[in-house]
Amino acid sequence: MVATKTGTATVCKLLINGDWVDSTATEFQDIYNPSTGEIIGRTPLGGNADVDRAVQAAHKAFLEWKEVPIIERARVMFRFKNLMEQHYEAIAECVTREHGKTLPESRASVQRAIEVVEFACGIPSLMMGESMENIARNVDCETIRHPIGVCAGIAPFNFPAMVPLWMYPIALTCGNSFVLKPSEKVPLTSMMIANLLAEAGLPNGVFNIVHGGKDCVDALLTHPLIKAISFVGSTHIAKYIYTTGTANGKRVQAAGGAKNHIIIMPDADMEQTVQALQASAFGCAGERCMAGSLALPVGAAAEALIPHLVEASAKMKVGPTDGKGSAHPDMGPLVSKEHLEKVRGMINKGESEGAKVALDGRNIEAAKSSGFFLGPTILDHAKPEMSVVKDEIFGPVLSVVRVDSLEDALAIGRDCPYGNGAVIYTNSGRSAREFKHHFNAGMIGINVGVPAPMAWFPFTGWNASFYGDLHIQGSEGIQFYTQQKMTMTRWFEPSKSSKFQDPIWKPKN
Ligand code: NAD
Repeated sequence: MVATKTGTATVCKLLINGDWVDSTATEFQDIYNPSTGEIIGRTPLGGNADVDRAVQAAHKAFLEWKEVPIIERARVMFRFKNLMEQHYEAIAECVTREHGKTLPESRASVQRAIEVVEFACGIPSLMMGESMENIARNVDCETIRHPIGVCAGIAPFNFPAMVPLWMYPIALTCGNSFVLKPSEKVPLTSMMIANLLAEAGLPNGVFNIVHGGKDCVDALLTHPLIKAISFVGSTHIAKYIYTTGTANGKRVQAAGGAKNHIIIMPDADMEQTVQALQASAFGCAGERCMAGSLALPVGAAAEALIPHLVEASAKMKVGPTDGKGSAHPDMGPLVSKEHLEKVRGMINKGESEGAKVALDGRNIEAAKSSGFFLGPTILDHAKPEMSVVKDEIFGPVLSVVRVDSLEDALAIGRDCPYGNGAVIYTNSGRSAREFKHHFNAGMIGINVGVPAPMAWFPFTGWNASFYGDLHIQGSEGIQFYTQQKMTMTRWFEPSKSSKFQDPIWKPKN
């Protein structure tokens, strides 16, 4: 039982020590099916009391879980992976229902989540320390990685399955316990997956779920038993999480927002580039931290590309993704009415600042329904100083700044406060190399639309797209969730004066 029925909407429960229990919250937030605008649940907005219950349970469970041999912890992940695969379709449907992505997009995100579990299955060999004999005469040295304790994860709305799973499979297999706070907009998928973790044999209390917004996050940031915080969300909250978490003595990895630049050189394969750019800008309705949101066509590339991109994007089918509308839409709704209004407001502002609306998604047919729809929008002839070029929009909106040279494009990148992803489309190795070396961002694509790293690589955002030292996922994830213990050992050779004489050694003269 993961929810309680109150009135017409179901209230989410907390997962504490293996039981689904009621929150002590007195305030709630509605969860929507974005395709219809219908309320499908309510999230309790909990605080200190809920968090303390979850953290105490996690702390108690940690003391036993850290002693479980690592291969047994990995076996839980093997079983969890199999269960995720068995329930793949149901999880994807849940993502679509509460977030609005198309089913193929939800399936792809669940696949990415499973890949992190697969990576975690290999942690027994990845978590090994280092050792060396004779660092001084008869002195040996070794480092061993230990788990750190109770870790917390705070997630955004845009990938209800994938982003939380960037965190906890790695944290748990390293021997930590975990308290997850999913986004209050999309908590249902995390709850469904938590039941699979229990079925996989994870002991009670090792994984817990709390719900809420700022109060709940603040309680996690200040709880003395929490050792590490993983956060993914917008930049101003990421910065707040980093400063508050570290001030309270915790390790923090905080991934923030983005503005991802796509440079198109005149020598690019335009047919391929149109397809890739369309998928990058409008896939998942643009609600991706790696979405290509700013196109920088160089010289003649603009005329060779933009008319075709507008034509192709205008054909995209936008509609309900919950199976009740026309079959197989290319793009679903935005997550909430509030977010839809924010994105529409940013388009209006860009237009008033002088950008030319080459494709207008504001008045599409689906926008007349009760769902939260906005069609693909292209703002051409934008200028570097405009808000639609500088700010993250996080919707299906592509701004286009036409530039004269690769150097001009790189200069726009240098002025950008973010640093998540950037992509170049070109057939020139020289241009690709210049771009790869000089662009001021942590994840680079060369003729690759969305260069989001696989589970065994870290998610290497730079600048205001990341606060912390060790990134999420991959080997940096293992480093983040472990602390090293160094041991230096010396065994004396028995001397003549020693009372203790080891029978296998003869004392030296
Ligand atoms: P958000 O920052 O509004 O919320 C993220 C989390 O922070 C939620 O769990 C929320 O409850 C909590 N939160 C919200 N306001 C808070 C406050 N005042 N104090 C403390 N906690 C607070 O982000 P969102 O709208 O859910 O997600 C979209 C953002 O996430 C975009 O900016 C996107 O770029 C970013 N994102 C980044 C990555 C990445 O890897 N860099 C990945 C996915 C999403």
